Amino acid sequence: MTRHPDDATPLSTAAPGVQLQPAAYEKLLGALRDAIARLAADEPFERLVVPPVISRATIERAGFAASFPNLLGTVHSYTGTAADWRRLSPLIAEGGDWHTRQGISDLVLLPAACYPVYATLDGRDLTEPVRFSVEAQCFRQEATAEPGRLRTFRMAELVTAGTAEHCQQWREHWLGRVADWLETLGLKPSVELADDPFFGGGRRIYQAAQRAQELKFELRVPVADGLPQAIASANLHKDHFGEAFAFTADGATGNTACTAFGLDRIALALLHTHGPRPADWPQPIGNALNGTAQNGTAQNSTAPNGD
Ligand code: ATP
Ligand code: ZN
Repeated sequence: MTRHPDDATPLSTAAPGVQLQPAAYEKLLGALRDAIARLAADEPFERLVVPPVISRATIERAGFAASFPNLLGTVHSYTGTAADWRRLSPLIAEGGDWHTRQGISDLVLLPAACYPVYATLDGRDLTEPVRFSVEAQCFRQEATAEPGRLRTFRMAELVTAGTAEHCQQWREHWLGRVADWLETLGLKPSVELADDPFFGGGRRIYQAAQRAQELKFELRVPVADGLPQAIASANLHKDHFGEAFAFTADGATGNTACTAFGLDRIALALLHTHGPRPADWPQPIGNALNGTAQNGTAQNSTAPNGD
């Protein structure tokens, strides 16, 4: 099978929710990353590259292990002796349980890009808001694998911490900004009040509280026929992470907010809307994506050209 080199459609693999991404898809993700950087250029974000694993203690402290145990991917590694392994290793070829001596490690797979940032604020009193721009390969052990629901996916996030007023205003600002930006890419997002998929007992109570306080908004766009998915979210965490990681802002428990861009889902929504070859998309879409003016030149000196 030969694919057209401009075809950005991802390939599925033996593992549901794990896709292979052609060069044209990677280029599209790069253009999205650069477009988000331009969008964020008028605020002083500190850029951090986040690895795909995180301290298990941090994820426990953040409350993710308690609320979303079903989504969390743990990292296990071998804890037995060499003698144990002589007994276990033949089981690999037999399709047996060679992994009975694997034990949980101090790492888990990163479930969202923003978590490691809060841990860096531990013990601080913020006299000014802080802002971070992060991106990571995330993992969630999703139960289904419909289009757009991946188990490993790239997430970019803009994150802030400061006072309650600052975080509230910042979240409002970014919700509108991201919706407007998606429109320039020819997408028509619906803005919806949302909640997180808390697991088990208390689920309904947590979700109702989250909705009543309007903590989470999602921007939804179809990624396949009749299948809208959240491609971005704007979240207010109030003092949840300030409590968990013991930081304050102007002496009161610190508040946080984040705007998350599901880079893979944005890419899939664009491919669904405009076709599988980004090189063939209408020029205004290419211009909005690459930060180029009508004549194809960069709009400002910091704008990297997607080509
Ligand atoms: P919070 O900080 O409140 O926990 P978050 O913004 O960090 O939330 P989510 O809102 O859960 O994290 O996810 C952010 C974005 O990541 C979603 O809007 C979506 O675009 C993308 N995303 C989430 N889960 C998946 C998935 N299974 N496959 C692909 N993309 C996903
Ligand atoms: Zn977040």
